[in-house]
Amino acid sequence: MSATGGPARERTGELIWSDDPPFAENAKQAVEDSQLRRNLRKATATIRERRAGLVAETPDWQELRHAGAAIKDDVLAHLDHYLEQFEGNASARGAHVHWARDATEASALVARLVRETGHEQVIKVKSMATQEIGLVKALEAQGIAAHETDLAEMIIQLSNDRPSHIVVPALHRNRAEIRRIFRDHMPDAPPDLTDDPLALAEAARLHLRRLFLKTKVAVSGANFAIAETGGLLVAESEGNGRMCLTLPETLISVVGIEKLIPRFSDLEVFLQLLPRSSTGERMNPYNSVWTGVTPGDGPQAVHIVLLDNGRTKALADQTGRQALRCIRCAACLNVCPVYERTGGHAYGATYPGPIGAILTPLLVGVEHAPQLPFASSLCGACYEVCPVEIDIPTVLVKLRGDAVRAERHRAQDATFAVAASAMSGRRRWTLALKLARLMRFIRRTAPPPLSAWTRTRDLPDPPPQPFREWWTTRR
Ligand code: SF4
Repeated sequence: MSATGGPARERTGELIWSDDPPFAENAKQAVEDSQLRRNLRKATATIRERRAGLVAETPDWQELRHAGAAIKDDVLAHLDHYLEQFEGNASARGAHVHWARDATEASALVARLVRETGHEQVIKVKSMATQEIGLVKALEAQGIAAHETDLAEMIIQLSNDRPSHIVVPALHRNRAEIRRIFRDHMPDAPPDLTDDPLALAEAARLHLRRLFLKTKVAVSGANFAIAETGGLLVAESEGNGRMCLTLPETLISVVGIEKLIPRFSDLEVFLQLLPRSSTGERMNPYNSVWTGVTPGDGPQAVHIVLLDNGRTKALADQTGRQALRCIRCAACLNVCPVYERTGGHAYGATYPGPIGAILTPLLVGVEHAPQLPFASSLCGACYEVCPVEIDIPTVLVKLRGDAVRAERHRAQDATFAVAASAMSGRRRWTLALKLARLMRFIRRTAPPPLSAWTRTRDLPDPPPQPFREWWTTRR
């Protein structure tokens, strides 16, 4: 049974994996997997140390954090203005700007745009927004094959797995496992492939190069959308992104509406914060910026899909809206003691770790992800490392209150629905009174959702003889 229920899946694409059990059960299984814990410990410790070293050598780190938070807060306070400015500037430079309310609308839109090109294959740049809307599966359902080109995403796709980290999606895999995945699922992998990282990278490079050269349509996300120019930026480490952004004839970018920054010069702040916090680098090896269409250079058809999918709902939450500052660096995952032991799959959602524990409930409604705000020790390490100063512990506490209230309402609604049904006819009422006598024995162990009520309250004993019986005997 999912914590989220089926309807949430329909509304949110892959944001919540509704066929997964709740966090507590997933976490229990994950901590029993010693290989997984070893992989996680090694990977998170390495990135953590690299980040800490780079932050220590940046004397104005705290000022950069304040600036990043202030710029994002300005965007959130004037989102309508910056979105229109972005749309106007991108359109003026030859891009087609589309708007999507939710996952279904965005996926259908991208599928239509791909079909209109006459092609049935796309190459993909790693993007959380496209994962959030379950784009690859949605395209597959329309007969369009979408090939992930980020090395880790490719490993995940080949093994039919799910990402477990925002920046390093295959962090839960070690190199022996990756060799096995390539050997079993990559048709052009060399037969004598070893688990040497160089050999693995070379096999992936040759495989991807063929795709880059023959595919005419690419799909990307964007790290930043610049309102002042209408441009988009993708920051990456492998160069696969730049291949996708420059070689194809058509480029379709799915961009969350919170990705805006007002000015090009704001990149000065974010291009210092992001690489240090995410991959532990002074700068990303590839920062690709494109603004509309440049005749004779790069894709000649550029589409931008601006995605809401719960963001305006999150914006309406005064405490929670700060989660929309997030630049998806994953620094909070790498320091989180809960994430380090459970990994990302336990969260059962596209966004794992501390940011996932607040962002997912904010996007889909806490009633659809009630366990996630409790997936934290509230140690505060996530807040200390967050490059845009998101106070995750405070948002977690607020969402815990919302989750408890939502659960209470659910129990109350269920109780009153049962009572209304029992009181709606004489026979039912008589039967209910008989059953009520049995309740004496289960009143402390009523099943969910009634247990939420009976855990803290005593049900009064029903009278030994109901009024109707008594009345009948008197007459
Ligand atoms: S919440 Fe902060 S630390 Fe976590 S991914 Fe977002 S920006 Fe990075």
